[in-house]
Amino acid sequence: MVVKAKCPICGGEVSLPDDVMAGEVVEHDCGIALEVVIENNIVKVKPLEGVGEDWGE
Ligand SMILES: [Zn+2]
Repeated sequence: MVVKAKCPICGGEVSLPDDVMAGEVVEHDCGIALEVVIENNIVKVKPLEGVGEDWGE
């Protein structure tokens, strides 16, 4: 099975295995690294705040 999350950066779909663990880092098609967060059994992703990566400005 696959869990779908929404990429906060590009709005695209992120497919994750349903046994994905919180804290795992996946790279999305748009090139961003996303950290897996699990809240109330709902899988979400958030941008990984990488050290030294200045993509925000
Ligand atoms: Zn994306």
